[in-house]
Amino acid sequence: MKSNVLKSVVLGLICILSLSLSTYAQPKKTIYILATGGTIAGQGDTEVTAGYKSGAITVDELLKAVPEIKDIAYIKAEQVANIGSQDMNDEVWLKLSKRVNELLSQGDVAGVVITHGTDTQEETAYFLNLTVKSEKPTILVGAMRPSTAIGADGPRNIYNAVVTAVAPESIGRGVMVVMDDKILSADDLAKTNTLSVGTFQNPNYGPLGIVYNGKPIYTRQSLKRHTANSEFDVSYIKELPRVEIILSHSNATGLFVEAAVKAHVKGIVTAGVGNGNLTTALQDALEKAVKNHGIAVVRSSRIMTGPTAQWDEVDDDKLNFSASWFINPYRARVLLMLALTKTKDYKEIQRMFSEY
Ligand code: GLU
Repeated sequence: MKSNVLKSVVLGLICILSLSLSTYAQPKKTIYILATGGTIAGQGDTEVTAGYKSGAITVDELLKAVPEIKDIAYIKAEQVANIGSQDMNDEVWLKLSKRVNELLSQGDVAGVVITHGTDTQEETAYFLNLTVKSEKPTILVGAMRPSTAIGADGPRNIYNAVVTAVAPESIGRGVMVVMDDKILSADDLAKTNTLSVGTFQNPNYGPLGIVYNGKPIYTRQSLKRHTANSEFDVSYIKELPRVEIILSHSNATGLFVEAAVKAHVKGIVTAGVGNGNLTTALQDALEKAVKNHGIAVVRSSRIMTGPTAQWDEVDDDKLNFSASWFINPYRARVLLMLALTKTKDYKEIQRMFSEY
């Protein structure tokens, strides 16, 4: 009897010792959570209906649903905006990018997690991928179900984002999105379904990895330029050049190109058919926009996968157009805006579209 008690005491002491040793071996890191709104902060009328108001609850309320993250990191939270991401805009992007850069330059901050609506998450993730100057992880996270729904996906996604942000193997991988247990790269991100929790994909290259049992497992890495290796710097920029996206389809005319010229846009991205092809009328209007008004034109495609390749059916060099390769129109708009902060030369813009 006595020896059993002694055994339990010794076992208990060993447990306490190993627990404190493991805590000593892996001191908790600081992770900042920057909230911007979206469904993840949304509130529904009931727990079963799909309708809800996006960006209705604050970051502090949101984090109450995932108390477990306090065991993983010292969490500091800031509310940068509280909007549905359909209203995301250049002003919030510039503010966000500057704040992320400030935070990641602090020695005690290991990473940043940004909560964001899913509608334009691919655009914000790519903007940060090109303007955050740090190897430390920046991770965007959202939810497809409001925080009040049965089976809300937000808390699990936030937990997975924080465990990914603290992991040393996440360093140097560019801006990522963690949702539905997948780790996705910002350079090939697409929302592929209007409602499904598995909506985000890297449709050309496949995900970077998965989160399993609270740990990231990486299976590939991006070969594109990003973050610390990006040439773009928005720290001194107050306003980004205006770039519009124009769609090609049967019977498309030059109507929207003419409107864009009148509005003094600096660049146009086309969402062409097939390999970025355009109706003759649309292509002619774009040619005039380049020649007569110095507008930069980048051809992309409305097809989700595959490259918009140079020199296929369109002679880009003759028209002074650039081709977006694997960058879809939404991300191409972001890259062209940043490219135009440095150059208007279509060959230089083409170089950027091949490297990023
Ligand atoms: N439209 C909202 C947004 O993007 C809801 C979509 C979502 O977050 O899933 O913020």
